[in-house]
Amino acid sequence: MEPSPNTESSDILKPNSSDVGWEYAELINATNLRQVRCKLCRKELNGGINRLKYHVAGIKGNVKACPNSTPLDKERCKRALDELKKTKKEKKTTHSGGERGCRYC
Ligand SMILES: [Zn+2]
Repeated sequence: MEPSPNTESSDILKPNSSDVGWEYAELINATNLRQVRCKLCRKELNGGINRLKYHVAGIKGNVKACPNSTPLDKERCKRALDELKKTKKEKKTTHSGGERGCRYC
């Protein structure tokens, strides 16, 4: 009898993303990217990878801070969130300069 080496256990579900948040998160449900679990404290979050980054970074707001993240983890997640903010801002300023009367600004 040969034991089958292919058990579907070790692969952690992960979307195709280079987001640093996925180093700290795993998907609970492959079809729902908003359901993630923190690898550091096993807490389940229902707000997606950005919510998880707030959790690991310990930024107060919608989510409880992770009790197990190190200062380095916090720093990395904070930086990723800063980048996110920056790109959002850039998008907004792109059109407010040229087009007048945009109803969104
Ligand atoms: Zn955590």
